[in-house]
Amino acid sequence: MITTAAVAPYSFFQNVEKSFDEAARFTKWEKGILEQIKACNSVYRMKFPVRVGKDVQVIEAYRAQHSHHKLPCKGGVRFSENVDQDEVMALAALMTYKCAIVNVPFGGAKGGIKINPRNYTPYELEKITRRYTSELVKKNFIGPGVDVPAPDYGTGAREMSWILDTYLSLRPGEIDGMGCVTGKPVSQGGVRGRTEATGLGVFYGLREVFSRKEDMKKIGLTPGLEGKTVIIQGLGNVGSNAAKYFYKAGATIICLVEWDAAIYNPKGLNPEEVMKFKKETGSIKGFPGSKTLKKNMDGLELECDLLIPAALERQIDAYNAPRIKAKVIGEAANGPVTPEADEILNQKNVIIVPDMFLNAGGVTVSYFEWLKNLSHVRYGRMEKRFSENMNHHILTQMEELTGRRVNETERKFIQHGADEVDLVYSGLEETMIQAVNEISEIMNQNKNIKHIRSGAYVCAINKVAEAYAQLGIFP
Ligand code: NAD
Repeated sequence: MITTAAVAPYSFFQNVEKSFDEAARFTKWEKGILEQIKACNSVYRMKFPVRVGKDVQVIEAYRAQHSHHKLPCKGGVRFSENVDQDEVMALAALMTYKCAIVNVPFGGAKGGIKINPRNYTPYELEKITRRYTSELVKKNFIGPGVDVPAPDYGTGAREMSWILDTYLSLRPGEIDGMGCVTGKPVSQGGVRGRTEATGLGVFYGLREVFSRKEDMKKIGLTPGLEGKTVIIQGLGNVGSNAAKYFYKAGATIICLVEWDAAIYNPKGLNPEEVMKFKKETGSIKGFPGSKTLKKNMDGLELECDLLIPAALERQIDAYNAPRIKAKVIGEAANGPVTPEADEILNQKNVIIVPDMFLNAGGVTVSYFEWLKNLSHVRYGRMEKRFSENMNHHILTQMEELTGRRVNETERKFIQHGADEVDLVYSGLEETMIQAVNEISEIMNQNKNIKHIRSGAYVCAINKVAEAYAQLGIFP
C-alpha cells in the first residue's frame, strides 16, 4: 500500500527548499548567503473573533514575508481550508524567486485565511477580510512601501477593494495609500488587464516554450500551439483565462478538471461555453457533448501534449506521476508538482515549465498597478492622443507620396494610440519572453543544468544574492 508519507514525505516549504538546494549547486554563492536567501524572514500568525450567524468563530490567518531584500514585499492572500504556516511560507518563498525572475523589484510574501469561502455569506467574508486587514495594519504588515497583498486562490477584486477601504480608513491622508494592495477593481485604482494577467502570462510563457523548434523536436512535437491537445485542472481566475487564450490560439482543449467533475471531449471544448454552463448550473458536470470522467484526477492522466495544473499545490506526486502522459506540464498553480514527481517526470523526458516563471504574469501586472497608484496617473493618458495625431500625420504623408489610400480597418489600426490595456499586455508579453530568454541563457552557459526549474532557480538566486550585495549586506 502506498502511504501519504511515501507519496509526500516533505512539507510544501521543504519541497521548495529541496528544489532550491538542487539548483544552488550550480551557483557560485557561499553557503551562508544561500541560507539567508532561502530563509523566511518574518511570519505573522493571528487569531481573531468574527460573529458568523449566531456564533462567534475564531479565525486563523497568516502573513509571511519571505524576503526583505527589496521592499515592499508582494504576494497574494488566499482563502482556503488548507492554509497553514508551512503553506504561506512556501508560497512566499516562491514569490521572492518569481519577482526576481521577471525583474519586479519586490521581496516575496503570501497571506492566507484558513476558511472555505463557500461556507460564508459575502457579508461574513467582508467582516473577515476587513478584520484581517486591520490586524495587518496594527503590526505594520501592510502598506505601499511595506507589504502589498493581491488576489490568490479563493480571492479576487472584491476582497482587494475591502482591503483597500479598510487600509485607507485606518491611514487617512496617506497619499500613496492606493498602492497598499493590487488586483483592485479598475474603478478603485486597479489597472486594466490585471484580472486576466496570470492566465495570459501562462499563455505567453508556454507559447514561447512551444515555439522552440529544437526543444519540441526532442519530445516529438512540431513547434507552435495550433492543434496541440491541452488539459487544464482548475477553472478559476488563472485556469479559465489561460483556457480562453489557448482556445483562441487554435489549441484543442480535450479535458477540463474541476474539484467536483472532469469533462472530456477529444474534439475539443470551448472554455467560454463551459464557463457559461458552470455559471448557470454551478458545475461543469454534464456539459453538452462531453463525457464526465468517473474520477476527476483521471483527467490529469489522459494522453495530451500539454497539461496545465491551475488549481492547488501537490496535485502531481510520486503516486500519479508514473501515469502522467503529457509531454509538457505548465505549472500555472504554485507547487503543483512535488520534487518526487519532478524526478519521475524528468526521467520520462517531460518538459516542466515551473510555476515561479510561468505564473509570474499576475505579479508583473500587479507591479504595473502599483506604479500606476504611485504615479497617480492612468497609463496612456499623456501620450495616447499625441501618438494618434502623429500616426495620422505620417499616414497622410505616406498616402500623398504614394497616391494610394489604405482601407478603413487598416487606417484605424495604424492610427490607434495605445490604451492602458494595450500597454499592460505589451509589458506583460515582453516580460514573459525576456524571462524565458534569461533562463535559456543560463542553461546554455551551463550544460549541467538540465531542467527549466533549476535554470529558473539559478536565475532567481543570482539576482537576489546580487541585490543583497548591492545593499552591502554580503560585501
Ligand atoms: P481561484 O480560486 O480563482 O480558482 C481555483 C479553481 O480551482 C476553482 O475553480 C476551484 O473550484 C478549482 N479547484 C479547487 N480544488 C480543485 C481540485 N482538487 N481539482 C480541480 N479543481 C480544483 O484561484 P486562482 O487565483 O485561479 O489560483 C489558482 C492557482 O494559481 C493557485 O495555486 C494560485 O496560488 C496560483 N496563482 C494565482 C495567481 C492569481 O493572480 N490569481 C497568480 C499566481 C499564481
